[in-house]
Order: sequence, then structure tokens, then C-alpha cells
Amino acid sequence: MNAEIVTIGTELLLGEIVDTNSAYITRQLRDIGVNVYYLTTVGDNKERIAAAIRTALSRSDVVITTGGLGPTVDDMTREGVALATNRPLEFRPDLFEQIRERFEQLGAPMSENNRVQAYIPAGATPITNRLGTAPCFIVETEQGIVISLPGVPREMKDILAQTVIPYLRERSGGKGIIKARVLRTASIGESMIDAQIADLETWSNPTVGLAAHTGQTDIRITARADTEAEADALIAQAEAIIRERLGKYIFGINQDRLEDVFMALLRERGLTLAVSYAGPPDDSFARRFPDSDLVRARLFTPTLAELLTRLGLTADTMPEPPDFGELARLAARHALATTGADVAIAYVTDDTGTGIAAVLGERERIRRYKFGGALVEAPAWASTWAIGMAWQLVREYHP
Ligand code: ATP
Repeated sequence: MNAEIVTIGTELLLGEIVDTNSAYITRQLRDIGVNVYYLTTVGDNKERIAAAIRTALSRSDVVITTGGLGPTVDDMTREGVALATNRPLEFRPDLFEQIRERFEQLGAPMSENNRVQAYIPAGATPITNRLGTAPCFIVETEQGIVISLPGVPREMKDILAQTVIPYLRERSGGKGIIKARVLRTASIGESMIDAQIADLETWSNPTVGLAAHTGQTDIRITARADTEAEADALIAQAEAIIRERLGKYIFGINQDRLEDVFMALLRERGLTLAVSYAGPPDDSFARRFPDSDLVRARLFTPTLAELLTRLGLTADTMPEPPDFGELARLAARHALATTGADVAIAYVTDDTGTGIAAVLGERERIRRYKFGGALVEAPAWASTWAIGMAWQLVREYHP
């Protein structure tokens, strides 16, 4: 099943308010496996609303509108939907009664123009709006379904959860179970993953999608099925293929954190760790390795000059500009030698560049980046890559 969202309101087109309704509805629909291919925004004009809905109906099973259901003359959604679906507006005494009661509860006077809110397209099914006065409705036509919801986000969300989602779930062929599983990768970039599993990313059930975070990429598998067991089977089928191609980069699933998985691996293999950071004061790297018997040392050097001294080097032996990868490698070697740890991770940065290294015995992994420590995301990015490299070294060379 696919759906389309038409947000209605001239203030949206003038940039006076930002359309948050579409993003919210889209996420909710995604979670029940309904695809959204188009979002449209249209002003408070009957003909243009009707045209937008007609176009939407020509290419989607369901059209959800928000806004324009109020009592004033510029609230044109009722008329637009009536026009698009070739139905007259019909006065509904039951709705009028509901609106009247609502005003009574609120202790507010009801104005004559609230009466227009009791007019909905003939044959439409009213939807209860517990939080507002604007009645909303569903029109089922041969071309498809139109669902009109209020513009006020609080009201729209309530009706979506109470009525629309259960309704669509039932309509979308009973495939009511949606399950997702996230495979978390490290030490590989999003584009490399994409190149390996591009074919799976075109599947429709389960779907396979990528989400890149700082230095780490998730592969999300989402399946739709009638039963949980069926959904699990669909996910397992995709996961098996992904693991076959990218298994060595997958460190965990769902909420697993790389540093936790890495520390658990060190414990399992009986290894200890030393970490070395050289750069402007920032403890975000060290904080990823909480105190434990596995962490032999956390070394900190505030400047490159001091790092050189610590490594027993002089400034004139270093190339200009400095080779951050080589510095990180030397810092990791130094950490290993001075602390007696089995594995060392080093992270060296200043305004001009960054280097990271992981060492285990004779084995080493190094990376250099052009970005410096001043970049907001750089520490998270570089430290994730560094931990990922160390995790891979241990997995590969210390079984
Ligand atoms: P009411 O009867 O309560 O006026 P309505 O269905 O007529 O509801 P609108 O008048 O179109 O809704 O919008 C009411 C308010 O809801 C807007 O002023 C705006 O604050 C908010 N709103 C409307 N559309 C959106 C949207 N797409 N995204 C976010 N907020 C919206």
C-alpha cells in the first residue's frame, strides 16, 4: 500500500509555519510498512486543493490531508475533498451535535460558522477528534481513500494513533507485524557497504537501508508479515546474505555499542589495553574506555611538541606538515612498550589534521584525516574508527 500526504494551508506556502505534520505522518506510516512517495503542500484554495488530491489519488492508494478543517471561510479542505471525489457536501446532524457538545464542555459560545464544520463529503465516515472541534473524516472512493485530519499537530497525532493507523493496518492486507533489526558495522564506510549490498537495497520486503553515524554505519533490515515468525524469517534471509558479504565488519546488533563490544572481546581473549590521546583538551576519547582492570593506561599529551618529547623525537626529524598517521602509530607503539598492554589505540590531532592507529603485537592499522580536532564531529568520528580498527585487529589476529 502506498500513501501520499497533502498538507493544506497558505501559511505553509508563505513560510510562516514549517510543515512538521508530513514528517510525523511519514514516520508513522513507515512503521506500519506503508510507503510514501510524494508530499504536497497546497494553499487554502478549493480548486487547487481538489487538483492536488486528484493527482494524489491517481498515483497512491491513500491520501492523507492535514489542515483547513476549521470553521472560517479560508478553511477549504471539506470543499476541496468534495470536489476531488465528486460528492456534494452533506450536513450531518450527528456531527453538529458533537460540535455543540464540545463547545458546551469548553464553556465557550459556539458561533454560527461552526455549523459549516458539520458538512462533510456525502458518504464519508466521520472520525472522532477528542482534542478539538474540527470534525475529520475518511472518504472511500473507487480511486482510493482520502483521510482528512486537522492541522493542529496535537490533534492530528491523536487521531492518527487512535483511528488512522489501526484503519490502515487493517487495510494494508493484514500484514500487521513490522519488525526491524539493525546490523551495526565498524571500520567500513557507508559507500563501501552500499557497493556490496546495493542489490538488497532495492528489495521491498524486507527492506534494507543504510544509516551513517559519525564513523559508523548501520544496516537496517525491516520486514512486514502476518506473523512474527514470518517477519523473523524474512529478516534472517537478508541478514544471512549481508553477513556473508560484510560479516567481518558487523560488530553488533540494534543498540550494541562498539566500545562495549570491543571491551567484551578483550576480556574474552584475555587482553589488556592502553590508549593514548594527543590534542587539545577533550576527554571524549578517554571516556569511551571506562576504568577497568583491562585498561592499563590512558595517556594524554596536550600538544604535538610534547608528544614528540614523550616519543623521544625532535621537531626537526618530523616532516612538515606532520604525518599524523605516523605520529599516531608511534604513540600507539610507545603506549604498548611503556605500559605492557597487549593492544594500544592512539589518536593524535591538532588544527591541521588527525591520525589514528591501533596496534597489537607486530600488527598495526593506521589512518590519516585532513580534518583537525576543531571540527565538531571529528573526535567522535576518529575515535570510532580507531576502536573499530583495534576491534578488527583483535578479531583477525588474536583468535
Ligand atoms: P483548526 O480547526 O483547529 O483551525 P485546521 O484543520 O483548520 O484546525 P489549520 O487552521 O490549517 O488547521 O492549522 C491550525 C494550526 O495548526 C496552524 O496555525 C499551525 O500552527 C498548525 N499546522 C497546520 N498545518 C501544519 C503542518 N503541516 N505542520 C505543522 N503545523 C501545522
